[in-house]
Amino acid sequence: MSNYIVLVKQVPDVTQITDNAFDIETGTLIRSRLAGVINELDTQALALANYMKKISADPDGKIIALTMGPQTAEEVLRYSLGRCADMAVLLTDKALGGADTVATANPLAFAVRRIVKKILNEDSDYYVVCGMQSVDGDTAQVPPQIAEELSLPCIAYVTNAEFKTGRFEFTRIISGGSQVVAVKKLPAVITVAKYEYPLFATFAATRWANKMEIICWSGDDIKATHIGAKGSKTRVIRVFPPGKSTRKCKQLGDAKSLAKLLVDSFKSGNSRSGKDSNAQIPRYVLPGRRADRFDRSFERTKKENEDFEILSRTLKELGIGEISRIDEYIKKKLLAVAGEHFHKGALEDMLNGLQLTGPSFAGEVWVVAEHDSGAVHPATFELIGKARELADSLETEVGVCLAGHNTEPMARELIAAGADNIYIIEDKLLSVFDPAAYRKVVADCIGTYWPQIVLFGATARGRMLAPMVSYRLGCGLTADCTSFDIRDSSRTGRIALLLQTRPALGGNVMAAICTKDSKSQMATARPAVMKPLPPDESRTGKIIKHKVRLSDNDISLEIVKTELGTGVVNFNVEAIVSGGKGMQNRDNYERLVGSLCDCLGKKLDTQVERGASRAAVEQGFVERIHQVGQTGTSIGPKLYIALGISGAIQHMIGIANTGTIIAINSDPNAPIFKQCDYYIVGSVEDIVPQLVQALEAR
Ligand SMILES: Cc1cc2nc3c(=O)[nH]c(=O)nc-3n(C[C@H](O)[C@H](O)[C@H](O)COP(=O)(O)OP(=O)(O)OC[C@H]3O[C@@H](n4cnc5c(N)ncnc54)[C@H](O)[C@@H]3O)c2cc1C
Repeated sequence: MSNYIVLVKQVPDVTQITDNAFDIETGTLIRSRLAGVINELDTQALALANYMKKISADPDGKIIALTMGPQTAEEVLRYSLGRCADMAVLLTDKALGGADTVATANPLAFAVRRIVKKILNEDSDYYVVCGMQSVDGDTAQVPPQIAEELSLPCIAYVTNAEFKTGRFEFTRIISGGSQVVAVKKLPAVITVAKYEYPLFATFAATRWANKMEIICWSGDDIKATHIGAKGSKTRVIRVFPPGKSTRKCKQLGDAKSLAKLLVDSFKSGNSRSGKDSNAQIPRYVLPGRRADRFDRSFERTKKENEDFEILSRTLKELGIGEISRIDEYIKKKLLAVAGEHFHKGALEDMLNGLQLTGPSFAGEVWVVAEHDSGAVHPATFELIGKARELADSLETEVGVCLAGHNTEPMARELIAAGADNIYIIEDKLLSVFDPAAYRKVVADCIGTYWPQIVLFGATARGRMLAPMVSYRLGCGLTADCTSFDIRDSSRTGRIALLLQTRPALGGNVMAAICTKDSKSQMATARPAVMKPLPPDESRTGKIIKHKVRLSDNDISLEIVKTELGTGVVNFNVEAIVSGGKGMQNRDNYERLVGSLCDCLGKKLDTQVERGASRAAVEQGFVERIHQVGQTGTSIGPKLYIALGISGAIQHMIGIANTGTIIAINSDPNAPIFKQCDYYIVGSVEDIVPQLVQALEAR
C-alpha cells in the first residue's frame, strides 16, 4: 500500500504583478499585495497522486497534502482536501520566512520525516509528489534537495504513471526524448512536469474540506537545521525590471503583408543573423591589479559604487594616498565633505574595504560536463566559454568535471574549448545518467578540489543534478542564470564574488543573487545564452583521474525504456518553420508546415527545415528529431516561423539566437507574441494557405 505526500504551495498570482509588489530595499516580494493561488503544477501533482492511488487499486493509500507558508496557505490545503487529499498539514512559523531553496527544502524534508513518523507509523512505502517548480521561484530545486536531505531517489519531469506487475513505472522528460523508469526502492520523490487531467471538487467534497481539521506544525515541531533567511545559502542583492526585449513584437494585419516582409527583408539581408555576439562589458580586474588602487568600480550595487567613487575622489582632493594614515581627524574631515552620502559606520567599512585586495574565494572555476553517447552537450561548451572569462579575471584555471564511461576521448574537445584541467570520473555504472550515482561522484570530486565557482547547464539533467550536489556539499545554488559577473562588496569585506543574474516570477523581474555561507559558488546557466569560444586545437591541458567507489546499490532507478529521436534533420539552415500543438493533427502539420517550407524555399532560394515544439512531437505530429528547445535542439537561423506555438520558456530558450521570429497563433494573448518580431493573430488553417498564396503571387 503506497501513501502519497503531496507538496502544494500558495503562490502569488503572477499574471497580476503590480509595480508596488516588491520591497525595493530587500528585493523580496510583498506577498500581501498579490492574490494567492495554488501553484498550477502542484494541482497536477495532486491529480497524478490521485491517479496513482486509483490505478494501483489501493483504497487504503493516504494522500496527505503538505504546505509551508503563512496561515493563509491553509486555502491551498482546503483546495487539496476538496479534490483528493485525505489529510492536510500546514507548516507555519514566522522564522521560516525569507528562505531560499535550501531553507525551503530542509524544513519540508523534516516535515515529511514527521509525517512518516506520526501519521504513516514509519511505513516506508510512500512517494513525495511535487510540482516540478513553482511559478514564483521557477527554480525546480526544492524537490531534488528534499530527496537529498531524505537520501531518497528522485525522478524529475514526470508526465505519466502506469502500474505494472505490482509497481509504478513513470514516463519522464529527458534530453532528446522521453524515458520510462521505476525506482529500485521506496520511498521516492517525484516531480511532475505535466499531467493534463485536472481534478474537480464536488459540492459535498468542498463542504467536507471546509470542515476538516488541518494539522498545524511550527518550526519547533520539526526541528529543521536550515530555516529562514539565516539558514539560506543565497542572498538576493537586488531585483530589477527585465531589459526591454530587443524583439519588435509588431502585429501584422494579414498574410499579404507578412509575405511582402518575408521576401523583402530576407532578400535584402535585413533579417539579422542569429549569431550576433554579446556587447562587450568591461571585464573584472582584481583590486591588486587595478591601475588606481582607489578604483572600486566593480562594486555589487549602484549605491556601493557611488559611495566608493565619492570616497576615492574626496581622498584624492585631500591628498591622502595612504589609507593606514587615516586617523580620527581625517575621518571627521571626510565626513564633513561626504557625510550626506554615508555615515560614520559605513565610512569605517569602506576604509577597511579599500585595503582588501585578495578574493574571498579560492580555487578554479569549474563546469560540470554533460554528454550523451560520446557527444558533449552544446551547453557545456557555452559554459566553458564563460568559465574561461571568469577564470581569467580571477587569475585562476578552468576545470571540467567529466563523469561517465569511456569519457576520455571527450577531454581533448573540452580542452580545445577553453578548459585547463579535466577531472575524469570513470565507471561503467556511470554509462547512463542515474541522478543518485552522478550526484555522489560529482559531489565527491567537487568536495575534494573545492573550486570557487561551479557551473552546470540548466538542462533537464543539470537542473536535477545541481540541486542535489550543492545541497550535499552545503553550498548555495542559483537556478537558470542568464548572466554572471564578478563583483566586489568591499564594504562587507568581500572581494570577487560571483553575481548571478536570473529571471524570476515567470520572467517578470530579474534578480541578482550572491552565494553566502558556502565554500563554493554554484549556479545553473540557461543554455544558448552564453557563447562558446571557437575551438583551439593547439591548447593544452591536464587530465586528472578522480576515483570514487560505486556499487549497484548507488543506482537508484531502473530504466525500462528510452525513446530518443532518430532520423536526419539539418537545422544548420537559414530558415526553419515549426509547428506546435496548435497544428491539431499530423495531417495539418504535414500539409501546412510542408507547404510553407516548400514555398519559402523556392521564393527565398534557400533551404528550409521543419521544426516542432515538444507538445507537437508528443502528439505524434512529427518525429522527435525535429524538436526545438531546451530538450530538443537549440537553433540560430536567420528566420524562424512558429505556427500554433504558445511560447513556453523551454521552447523559446532553443530559439534565443534566431534572427527574425515570426509567430502565427489564434490566441491574441499568446506569450510568444511578446517574444517575437512579427505576428499575426489567426488560425494556422486560415493564415498559412493565404501566406503560401501571397508568396507565390510575388
Ligand atoms: C523539462 C522540460 C523540458 C522541455 N523541453 C521542451 C523543448 O525542448 N521544446 C519545447 O517546445 N517544449 C519543451 N517543453 C514543453 C514546454 O513547456 C511546452 O509544454 C511546449 O513547448 C508547448 O508546446 P506548444 O506551444 O506547441 O503547445 P501549447 O502550449 O499547448 O500551445 C499551443 C498553441 O497553439 C495555439 N493554437 C491552437 N489552435 C490554433 C490554431 N488553429 N491556429 C493557431 N494557433 C493555434 C494556442 O493558442 C496555443 O498558444 C519542456 C518542458 C519541460 C518540463
